[in-house]
Amino acid sequence: MSAAVKETTTADDTRKAKSLDAYIVSGGDFDIATAEAAQQELTDGFHLVIDALKLNGITTIYGVPGIPITDLGRIAQAEGMRVISFRHEQHAGNAAAIAGFLTKKPGICLTVSAPGFLNGLTALANATTNCFPMILISGSSEREIVDLQQGDYEEMDQLAVAKPFCKAAFRVLHAQDIGIAVARAIRAAVSGRPGGVYLDLPAKLFSQAMNAAAGTKSLVKVIDPAPAQLPAPAAVARALDVLKSAKRPLIILGKGAAYAQADDTIRALVEKSGIPYLPMSMAKGLLPDTHPQSAAAARSLVLKEADVVMLIGARLNWLLSHGKGNTWGAPGTQKFIQIDIEPKEMDSNVEIVAPVVGDIGSCVSALLEGVDGTWSAPSVEWISAINARKEANLAKMSSKLMKHSMPMDFHSALGVLRTIIKERPDAILVNEGANTLDLARGVIDMYQPRKRLDVGTWGVMGIGMGFSIAAAVETGKPVLAIEGDSAFGFSGMEVETICRYNLPVCIVVFNNNGIYRGTDINPTGDSDLAPTLFVKDARYDKMIEAFGGVGVHVTTPDELQRAVNAAMDSGRPTLINAAIDPAAGSESGNIGNLNPQSLVRKK
Ligand code: ADP
Ligand code: MG
Repeated sequence: MSAAVKETTTADDTRKAKSLDAYIVSGGDFDIATAEAAQQELTDGFHLVIDALKLNGITTIYGVPGIPITDLGRIAQAEGMRVISFRHEQHAGNAAAIAGFLTKKPGICLTVSAPGFLNGLTALANATTNCFPMILISGSSEREIVDLQQGDYEEMDQLAVAKPFCKAAFRVLHAQDIGIAVARAIRAAVSGRPGGVYLDLPAKLFSQAMNAAAGTKSLVKVIDPAPAQLPAPAAVARALDVLKSAKRPLIILGKGAAYAQADDTIRALVEKSGIPYLPMSMAKGLLPDTHPQSAAAARSLVLKEADVVMLIGARLNWLLSHGKGNTWGAPGTQKFIQIDIEPKEMDSNVEIVAPVVGDIGSCVSALLEGVDGTWSAPSVEWISAINARKEANLAKMSSKLMKHSMPMDFHSALGVLRTIIKERPDAILVNEGANTLDLARGVIDMYQPRKRLDVGTWGVMGIGMGFSIAAAVETGKPVLAIEGDSAFGFSGMEVETICRYNLPVCIVVFNNNGIYRGTDINPTGDSDLAPTLFVKDARYDKMIEAFGGVGVHVTTPDELQRAVNAAMDSGRPTLINAAIDPAAGSESGNIGNLNPQSLVRKK
């Protein structure tokens, strides 16, 4: 386990070892030569960090090596951990975050000090916003110099910077505190509402040595890191009363429900109650999207008409129009029940008449008990209204999917990918972009839980390759990443990482020459392109070839289908450049309303 120096004890050595222990406990600097002279079995900060992670079942680190954590990655690998090295910390951080979502264990991102830390911070903030458990571990510069602002190498008070962007932030100064610090970080990341945690490890900590046996004793195996939180019986009874009073009930499943891994219980509640449900983007597949009770294809109808809405692990944020306004029924006509582990989420946007606070598994089980002999299924009128709207909308969509237009538009390309996911339901779909995101979400049905990973609560661009890499590493399943050309650009260099680790990732770039559309013009007539445009007819497929992956350029749905199937069959890293009509997209995809437009344009 450690850089051990074998014991040949003499009275003098024992004396030295004792004074050494005292010295280390006092938190002073440590010199390895002194340790060797003392000839006791030693461990150090590097090994203690790794042992603490391993003791808690953490087996993978996502990161970028450099000062002062280079050796931490090396030793972690030597000690049997999987260490996945990225080209940029943001993508390593995104990988860690989605690993957390997929496994319910905190994903670990390891970065160098100041700039590397800041690069990772975007991912940490995104993880916290999305309720994904992760721990960002960054090396940092010397406290004494940083605090006196004396201009150290990569000087920054990283702990202070991280605090507003995470659930908890800790700094460790003494090797003997590493075990406790890692335990606290794990608990903070996964208990209650999951989120990001920052762990600051100053360079000097790593080479601090201590007695190996004392080091082992200082480690903590976290017992029950995310304790069940049972809902109060009165809260459950209140929620059941409200549900039973409903004429037009609706369940909304969010990514908290997907995270909870209470798949069977949730399915049982939906099916036994007969209530139609709407999956949020990353909850798609919790029940198969083809389930007869899915109201996804009648979204606008159910949000407007439902009289009781039960949210399960979904927040009433912008993605649900804050529970009010035109998307919803008139104020006062709708009642909300909310199941969430975070009590402060209740009443965040509108009144919650029946808050049920607890973990989703426990809350849904408790509600399920109330769906008994006295339960009556939702009315036939409500169900048939939803079904009628679904059929009409699905018919409209299927004609668009069949069009096979040339050049391809989004629908004709997505029609092919929809079939591929149907045939390969255990593949993981990663999705980002504007039109590429919004249309793929609607078109591609998911059949299994936690198979759709996307831009989440912030609608952030740049998660594509980080999510794909972690999805492949954590699950071993094939990954299909459907990327807008702009979205892909944020993490494109990580195709090298995908090739280096030979991961089964197939990236399809929907290349329409620009952001939203590829048709904008520069009104001044000079040679600069409009700010929303990229190099015309770029060949993203060539990028992956540089690293030994398979690049394919396709212009028709048939070519696309063949190329994706070949990639999924072979498992080889593949990038398919799919040429999409530059005129096909719409401004900001489905959220054009959030993009203010000038009414007083001069040119
Ligand atoms: P979506 O965007 O899919 O609607 P959100 O991210 O808005 O989902 O909401 C997820 C919600 O789930 C958060 O409010 C979070 O507190 C909650 N949550 C996450 N994990 C659990 C859990 N295990 N039990 C209960 N609630 C959870
Ligand atoms: Mg584009």
